[in-house]
Amino acid sequence: MPQDNNTLRVLLPRKLIDGVGDKAQEGMAVAVQGNTIRWVGPASEAESLDSNGAHRETLEFPGSTLLAGMFDIHTHTNMPGDGRTGEQVNDDDNDEVRLLRSARNATAAVASGITTMCDCGSWNRNGFALKEGLAEGIVEGPRVLVSGPPLTVTGGHLWYMGGEADGVDAVRSRVRDMVKQGADFIKIAASGGSTSTSDPYRAAYSLTELTSIVDEAHNRNRPVLAHCRCTDAINMALDAGVDAILHCAFYDNDGSYRFDQKTADRLAASEVWLNPTMGLGNANRERLAKIQGERALTPEEEDRLERSTVSGANSLAQFSALVKAGVKLVGGSDCGWSYYPFGDFQSEIMSLHAAGLSRIDAIHAGTRSPAAALGIIDSIGTVEAGKEADLLVVDGDPSADLECLRDLAAVFKGGTRVTTTKERASLG
Ligand SMILES: [Zn+2]
Repeated sequence: MPQDNNTLRVLLPRKLIDGVGDKAQEGMAVAVQGNTIRWVGPASEAESLDSNGAHRETLEFPGSTLLAGMFDIHTHTNMPGDGRTGEQVNDDDNDEVRLLRSARNATAAVASGITTMCDCGSWNRNGFALKEGLAEGIVEGPRVLVSGPPLTVTGGHLWYMGGEADGVDAVRSRVRDMVKQGADFIKIAASGGSTSTSDPYRAAYSLTELTSIVDEAHNRNRPVLAHCRCTDAINMALDAGVDAILHCAFYDNDGSYRFDQKTADRLAASEVWLNPTMGLGNANRERLAKIQGERALTPEEEDRLERSTVSGANSLAQFSALVKAGVKLVGGSDCGWSYYPFGDFQSEIMSLHAAGLSRIDAIHAGTRSPAAALGIIDSIGTVEAGKEADLLVVDGDPSADLECLRDLAAVFKGGTRVTTTKERASLG
């Protein structure tokens, strides 16, 4: 169904989660014209809505809930989500293959109800090229905001993507270059990660470098997202004034997990968005549990399951305490990485509910909050008149059962109806 300015489309769901209020409302209607939400109001008033000569069309979804399209703040479109490491994808594939993969992942994402997502790190020009392909309509996908290759120290996490920069002058110049190429936000590897030449339990950049990156990015109105897998890096990212902290895991330099109350207090007092990425570990463990049901695990798999079970429990305990302390959580799957393919951001939203967010707050964390974190809440993220018509219709009521988020009845991106995963499957 193409977007059409001459059609006023009135959507009549059973319930509406508008992203503004704190519960699902009944008896509401939403009118869409072109790519915009034109009106939201009581269904009883929809009939008398002036269509200004436009053709009127009514779509009824009697058992469904309408909400804003989902926004995943953390993905890697170049990555396959089949367990291959970043180094393997660097060595085995080239940019042409990686870009094709990004196209496929973007299509899978929008079919699963994602209408906006951030690519938090792809190789070289891939993220920018994906955005150009989407803008030209060559590829079907959500709105994609890209960082380009993350800024990282020499040999630091994700260095192979092409974003190495050391020292104040080099990091400033790198930020300017990313903005010149089309970066919507800046991603920093503020600690090491899974990259073998990096150390996840140490801060990577000096505070002066981090502050210069944030200063340069903010001066160009670009938010900064920092990957932090240790407590030191979290505190330095807070000192530098980043906008969002990805992973945000409380590990000491020796690799041991320790809940740090002082850091927790700082996070709660700050306005910084935290992205726990707990769905990633859950996907890992669910996969291993499924294998376990079919055959005995190899010693290596057993070891991985054990380590993942421990770190998952630490993470859940940490974020449960942080939610009680009042931090701001934002949904980001980190999909493409590890064994987390594109198409199930819902699992990340559910993990935020498991950590203590109410169902409606977890839904907000996967719709409204990423838009706020990226500074684009004025145009997307909620169901309000004047905003882009990025809408999701799901069977049932997700504010009563989050599983409903997986039951898509319809997805609209900018007013255009998109083929859902289920519809794709039925087409064969
Ligand atoms: Zn990531």
